[in-house]
Formats: sequence, structure tokens, C-alpha cells
Amino acid sequence: MTALTLNNVNKSFGNVHVLKDITLEVEEGEFVVFVGPSGCGKSTLLRVIAGLEDASSGEINIGGQQVNLVPPSKRGIAMVFQSYALYPHLSVRGNMTLALKQEKQPKSEIEGRVAKASRMLNLEPYLDRYPSELSGGQRQRVAIGRAIVREPKLFLFDEPLSNLDAALRMNTRIEIANLHRALDASMIYVTHDQTEAMTLADKIVVLRDGRVEQIGSPMELYNNPANQFVAGFLGSPS
Ligand code: ADP
Ligand code: MG
Repeated sequence: MTALTLNNVNKSFGNVHVLKDITLEVEEGEFVVFVGPSGCGKSTLLRVIAGLEDASSGEINIGGQQVNLVPPSKRGIAMVFQSYALYPHLSVRGNMTLALKQEKQPKSEIEGRVAKASRMLNLEPYLDRYPSELSGGQRQRVAIGRAIVREPKLFLFDEPLSNLDAALRMNTRIEIANLHRALDASMIYVTHDQTEAMTLADKIVVLRDGRVEQIGSPMELYNNPANQFVAGFLGSPS
């Protein structure tokens, strides 16, 4: 079964047509990277998949279910944003447990999930700290932890590393690749960074001006770019 199918999805804001006939599939367990220049519609596409924006037309299927009218919290997804968007008045533990408490998960279940996620992300020493007492990298790990405890089938990452310095960016990238291996979930990862796309992806979706330009594995796109734009973007010589 596919984790996600988009069929001719369009999104306009007023008379600005931002997403144009987006059709693509994400297989179960697949790591898919959406790549394209700033302003091409990557964040809007994630927000439409998450249900934070309604599609203007087209069909969104998650796990075999049409979700166009399903609210974000019921789509079985979790999103990690570029800005960490942690609650400043809540501890790390509080940030990680908030959604689970809203879901009325039993206390033992919540504790078990937080223990597991904080072990995976090396956050155990920081559970009682507040966001202002953490480094940028630690905050981003809390944001990832907050997504993991919800045990989604599909993770959406929107340029999660763009606020980190180069060394931390590489470490966190490796951590995300390891998480993908450890978790039974599909991931969609948005970036404008070619290196991130080439190293993380099973499959790359190249976006340009709200359209899908090409879809393929990193090697397919590198060896057989559909046009100059893809070639230029992914750094192949042709
Ligand atoms: P990216 O994430 O690839 O940089 P975005 O999805 O943020 O691109 O934006 C794509 C286009 O949609 C931009 O031209 C942006 O100005 C426009 N856009 C995004 N959100 C809105 C909105 N809420 N209202 C109007 N225009 C928007
Ligand atoms: Mg964006």
C-alpha cells in the first residue's frame, strides 16, 4: 500500500496559483525529498498534505484513505518545522507530552513513549529543562521527539536543518537517516539543499514554480535529468 497519494492537487491563494496539478506517490517506508528553489511551493505542499491548508482541487490519500476533509490531528502524520516552534513555557517533557495528553493517552503509555524517544535522540538529560535553556540543535531534537512520540505513519519535515550551523547540520542529517531506519514510517523531507536531497532520499521530487519537474531516485536524476533545470539543480554536468 502507498503511504501517500496526491492526484492533481492544486492550491491557490486568491488569484495566485501556487501548486499546479501535483501528482505523486510515497510508498510505505520510503524517504522522499521535495527539493526546489525558494518560493516554488514546498512548504505549501507540506501544509496541504498535513491539512493545515485545504487543497483548492485534487485528491489527497493517506494510508489508502481520502483525507481532504479529515482534520490535521486525525491524518496520522506529524510535522517538524524549520523554526522549532516549541512552547517556551513548557519543559522538554511538557513539549513532548502535550499532544499525547490531548489525545487522552494513558499515563504509562505517555511515559513509555517519551522514554523511548528521548533515548533515541539523547534527550534524557534535558527532559526537565525549558527551551530557552537548550542549544539550537537540542531544540530541533525536541521538535523531532515531539513528532516521534505520536508514532505517525508519515513524518513531514520542512527544512528542519536550515537554522543549524554546518557541523550540526551534518550530525542531525545522519540522526534523521538513522531514525528513518529505526522507525516503521515514511518520511517526506523538504529542502533547498542538493546535498541533503542526494544523501537522504530514496526518491526525489523536483519542484519548480509549483509544478513537479521530475521524480526519480538520486542516481536517476543525476544520470538522466529531464532538463537543464533539474541538471543544474542537482549538480550533474549535462
Ligand atoms: P517554499 O517553501 O518552496 O519556499 P512556499 O510554499 O512558502 O515556498 O510559497 C510558495 C508561494 O506561495 C510563494 O510565492 C508564497 O508567497 C505563496 N504563499 C504561500 N503561502 C501563502 C499565503 N498564505 N497567502 C498568499 N500567498 C502565499
Ligand atoms: Mg518553505
